[in-house]
Amino acid sequence: MNIGCPSEIKNHEYRVGLTPASVHTYVDNGHAVFIQKGAGQGSDIADEEYIQAGATIVPTAADVWEQSDMIVKVKEPLPAEYPLMRPGQLVYTYFHFAASHKLTRACMDSKITALAYETVQEDNGLLPLLKPMSEVAGRMAPLMGAFYLGRPKGGRGVLPTGVPGVLPANVVVIGGGTVGANAARVAAGLGARVTILDINHATLEHLGNIMPANVFPVYSDHINLKRTLERADLVIGAVLIPGAKAPRLVTRSLLRSMRPGAVIVDVAIDQGGCTETSVPTTHDDPVFEEEGIVHYCVSNMPGAYARTSTFALNNATIRYGLQLANKGVEKACTESRALMRGLNIYKGTLTCEPVAEAFAMQK
Ligand code: NAD
Repeated sequence: MNIGCPSEIKNHEYRVGLTPASVHTYVDNGHAVFIQKGAGQGSDIADEEYIQAGATIVPTAADVWEQSDMIVKVKEPLPAEYPLMRPGQLVYTYFHFAASHKLTRACMDSKITALAYETVQEDNGLLPLLKPMSEVAGRMAPLMGAFYLGRPKGGRGVLPTGVPGVLPANVVVIGGGTVGANAARVAAGLGARVTILDINHATLEHLGNIMPANVFPVYSDHINLKRTLERADLVIGAVLIPGAKAPRLVTRSLLRSMRPGAVIVDVAIDQGGCTETSVPTTHDDPVFEEEGIVHYCVSNMPGAYARTSTFALNNATIRYGLQLANKGVEKACTESRALMRGLNIYKGTLTCEPVAEAFAMQK
């Protein structure tokens, strides 16, 4: 199979779909790999490293899309890439369809097959291709939040660590999965008092067993959410219902009950965000204020720490990518329920129920 990897073109997106090690694995399995010139630059990977691994460097994104049966990317195709997608082509990347009707329609109209990293799901419920980026975003969230809590950035001027004689910040993490647990651990490491909310009892029990003493797992209901938000300095939105739009748990009226200058880092923004007032932002212009609360809603947070993220992502994607390349998408998905769950569009037909429900589309 011909496998292609174009440069990412999203604002401040420095990750790349393939590392030289992944190229080597595909080539070793008899595939040809085409990399757009300079695609690895943002992750500090030189074209020469790809060539040594067996790839062919091609000058433009159009060359990559034209020559490849399977495209391996990081972020969803952007409008400039829509005309490059070809019928029957397999695109293996993050899509987050439920957050964008326009993208879903464009991929259906192009008749591509979309294998979405974020919905590849093992039988035990784990999301192996979301996990590494969730680990990065989760660990970043308290650091970003701490920065914007600074008064010159519009925050309420609370140092999350506290100092001798002054209490640390109250951090509220909504959702105790991968993002939430990683965020809670870093926030706790900074010295903050952390409340982490989830609706899953097993998750709460697990968090209770593994988290440091300054992390308090709490059941996520409206009353607990309201009480914790009223005292919060920093809120981290980390809920997920796989494939579906994020539930908007922090309503505008809850926001009004919060302390002015508190910060919300809505990591769940790639699924629409769990705050009513959240809209996606970019690394160029990451925050805005609404109801006196600073919102950080960057939808590609791990892109900022590109090298770490690119290698972490490839460690996870190569295993499934190789099955797709070696067997072809039909056989690979028939033999792997995890991959079948990742199939969101097959040759233009929507095959993912939560996405169909999000837009009330016909499957
Ligand atoms: P996960 O499945 O590991 O965890 C989600 C958690 O949310 C689960 O524990 C679930 O029980 C909980 N949850 C569901 N409904 C809830 C509710 N009403 N109240 C409280 N908790 C609830 O998912 P994850 O890997 O942690 O990802 C979380 C979100 O972060 C996803 O939307 C993911 O796409 C996003 N993400 C964004 C970025 C970014 O750059 N912005 C990067 C990585 C991940």
